[in-house]
Order: sequence, then C-alpha cells, then structure tokens
Amino acid sequence: MWIPAQLLKLIEAFKKLPGIGERSSSRIVFYLLRDRDVLDELKSALELADELKFCSVCHTITDVDPCPICSDPERENGVLCVVERPEDVFLLEKTGSFRGRYHVLGGVISPINNVKPEDLHINDLIERVEKESVREIIVALNPTVEGDITAHYLADLLAPLGVKITRIARGLPTGSDLALADETTLKEAIEKRTELK
Ligand code: ZN
Repeated sequence: MWIPAQLLKLIEAFKKLPGIGERSSSRIVFYLLRDRDVLDELKSALELADELKFCSVCHTITDVDPCPICSDPERENGVLCVVERPEDVFLLEKTGSFRGRYHVLGGVISPINNVKPEDLHINDLIERVEKESVREIIVALNPTVEGDITAHYLADLLAPLGVKITRIARGLPTGSDLALADETTLKEAIEKRTELK
C-alpha cells in the first residue's frame, strides 16, 4: 500500500475539526488538491487568524484590545450580557437588539466535562460588576443543564452585590427544527406560547 505521507498528514489535520471524520476529511483534502484557487484562499484566510486575539476585558474575539464594543462610549454602561462563547456575541450583535456590553465566560460549568467555576472568566466578571457599576446582568446562556447550573451559580454569586439578574426568554430559536429541541425546551416553548394575532 502506498499513500504519500503528506496526504496522510493533511487528512489527519482536518480530522481534528469538530464533526469531521476520516471520510469527510479525505473528501476535503482531495477537493483542495484539485482546486488550487480554493486552497490558496484557505491558506491566506488561515493566516488572518494570527491577527485575532481575545479581548482582555470581555474575552470576545477581536483584532484590537480592548475590543470595539468595550471601548465604544456609545454603548450603554451598567448592563452586561453574559454569554458562553465569542460566537454568541456576534449572534446577538447581528440582532442589533442589545446596546449594553458583553462578558464571555469561555464555557459553562459542567460536572460531566469537569469544567469548574474557576475554569471560567467568573472572577473578572465580579470585578467588572464592581468597577463598571453594573446594575443588571442578562444571562444569555443556552437552555441546557449546564447553562442552568451556570445561571444559578452566577445568580447566587452576584445577588449579594445588589445586581439585578435576568435570563433571556427560552423557547425554540427561530429557524430551528422541533426535532432538534430537547424535551424541556419543547415543553417550555409550548407553555410560553403566544398568540400569533
Ligand atoms: Zn471586549
């Protein structure tokens, strides 16, 4: 059996991406080797990753530190939206409905995956609450068991500081499939239904 070592290495590299197995990885690699334009575009796009870093204040992904949201004087002070990952910031920004500032936890508390509060950006969240005179924290974590544990943990921790803590309304995200929702989400979505007209 003969397979070039470089080819094997390429396939191994793509397999490290989430949701990509041996078959998908092979398909991607052979595709890229056939279409050099796409390959070149991918190579230069990957180099852009070196220009991105985490904001030292809110921990989102940014090209300048602090990020433009943290340094924007037009954003509302005193309201922090707590999210799990940087991608959540961009999702919420796209809706244009939130004008406060963000704080990315970097994950959620998960006993199963051994993620503890000290593994997350919780200590500096408390610091920000004090330093930025935060009056409301909107917890925008996913409606999962881990999201619930984390939300309650934050509420217990922050309530003594006199901060109002709210959680985004639950329900099925727009465009999601009922089959993809877990039972609890579905149940809550039905219970909290609203009339269309
Ligand atoms: Zn920031």
